[in-house]
Amino acid sequence: MSYKFYIVATPIGNLSDISMRAVEILRSVDYIACEDTRVTRILTEKYRIKAKLIDCHKFNEKEKSRKILDLLNEDKKVALVSDAGTPCISDPGSTLIKTLYENDVKITSIPGACAVTTFLSLVPRDCEEYAFIGFIPRIKKQQFDILNKYKYTNCVFYESPNRLMDTLLNIQELFGEEKKIAVARELTKVFEEVKIDEVKNIIKYYSENTLKGEIVALVYAKDEREESDDFIMDKINILKEEGYSPKDISKIISKLYNINKNKVYKMVID
Ligand code: SAM
Repeated sequence: MSYKFYIVATPIGNLSDISMRAVEILRSVDYIACEDTRVTRILTEKYRIKAKLIDCHKFNEKEKSRKILDLLNEDKKVALVSDAGTPCISDPGSTLIKTLYENDVKITSIPGACAVTTFLSLVPRDCEEYAFIGFIPRIKKQQFDILNKYKYTNCVFYESPNRLMDTLLNIQELFGEEKKIAVARELTKVFEEVKIDEVKNIIKYYSENTLKGEIVALVYAKDEREESDDFIMDKINILKEEGYSPKDISKIISKLYNINKNKVYKMVID
């Protein structure tokens, strides 16, 4: 089947991580829409790709979508790439794709590198399920909200190196210093590094070592059984034996396990 528009995954670091089909398609199209022509030119020069580059980023996507539609109506073939990995995954492109669907353009996607899937294939996990939240919000309250929302799922996110330390401290505050996490830097590149440990150890490691490059991270899921009422009741009983007041017990338990204080208080009294 022949298509007029191709979404093409490109490498996330190592320039050899591109499929033969992706190169063939990029060589066959008339135009390549890309985020930054300087980045994409490195790839087109390496693979002797002659297509003209159109810059299409989040600030001009709407206007460029119309231009690309005009080119397609003139029977030109167009591909979309991003600076790294799979377009439209935490990257611009969705406005363009929406426009193409609305105008019945036949499109297809050429799979390839993606930081999330590369990372997930590399770190140990007990279950298949995960939540990918893209770039984690910068504001602490928003981080707490989203991490809480997905606390029973392995939660994967992108983060920049200069914000990672704050985010790790927030994870530690929210889930405790023993919370298990995984952090990968510079996947597929010379300085690739993966750390899987309790958050306190990762904070220590990055306060003593360089924290640069591109980052993808995972907060491991909380085991739901941890919070079952029996589990909480055991902890309440220990504190009761130690002579803590119901008020203090509910304060401590709710803080430790992030449970509603009134619910714990009721359990203590009951
Ligand atoms: N579309 C891309 C994909 O398929 O993964 C992601 C684009 S998003 C704008 C860029 C972010 O992805 C980076 O800030 C970083 O968090 C993550 N990322 C990209 N390349 C990476 C790499 N080589 N190692 C680790 N994380 C990477």
